[in-house]
Amino acid sequence: MDASERVVEAYVRAVQGWATIPNIPCDSQQEIDLLAVDPGTGVARHIEVSVVLAPSFHKLTGKPYDPTLARERTHQAEQRRTVGFFAQKKFAAAPVRDRLREHGLNPDVCGRAIVTWGWDASAEDQAREAGIALWHFPDLVRGLADRVQGTRTNFHDETLRMLNLVLTAIPNEDSERAGQGDAATPAPEPTGQGGFWIYHNWTNRRVRLHRETCSHCNGGRGTEGSASDRNGEWLGPFRTARDGWDRAQRLQEPDTGVCKTCGPADGA
Ligand SMILES: [Zn+2]
Repeated sequence: MDASERVVEAYVRAVQGWATIPNIPCDSQQEIDLLAVDPGTGVARHIEVSVVLAPSFHKLTGKPYDPTLARERTHQAEQRRTVGFFAQKKFAAAPVRDRLREHGLNPDVCGRAIVTWGWDASAEDQAREAGIALWHFPDLVRGLADRVQGTRTNFHDETLRMLNLVLTAIPNEDSERAGQGDAATPAPEPTGQGGFWIYHNWTNRRVRLHRETCSHCNGGRGTEGSASDRNGEWLGPFRTARDGWDRAQRLQEPDTGVCKTCGPADGA
């Protein structure tokens, strides 16, 4: 298992509470990355992990999957980043379906998910049509972080233990990419500089005030564009930090603060 697969398994177990079987070998050199079963409902999911740790260049795409091209060295990486590749070569492959049946599962009703770091619009459409859920890797990391942070549980899972240690060691470091900054701080003073934005993350019920020039904000476009749009929205621009802060307060989310990276409260 590579590092991202370990993180996904830790998320599925610790946050969702599902039982897992990782790396199930199938015939024809196929493999199921992760099989997860919700013990409460009995719902099973086949999860493939496709995370390249260089986010901006490796989004999942809806480009046509071509088995001939996929065998050519120069096109292999690109082809393996298509929804079609996962749909045909992973989820629908006969050896994979056979293995699921051996585990007592019906491949036609087994849930399907790809964990990846961003995707384009056509990938989303294709995945929806193919009944494949797309999971955004940074969301899983955030969910895990929320789960382990501040708990004293002695985690048996090595990944959780490591993550908990890291979060305890660097509580004030920015741990996010999608433009929310870090822990909440007091309300900022007005600066009169103009150009402030707030990012409202609906999923995590978090609001962060940014300068327009902040690398997380990028004039309200954020760092990941479409990827962050699914979890929240940018509001602005506001002329002063105070205006932005007032709006942020009215959202009445439990976790409201200013970005630690651009520090709009400092007035510089
Ligand atoms: Zn910022």
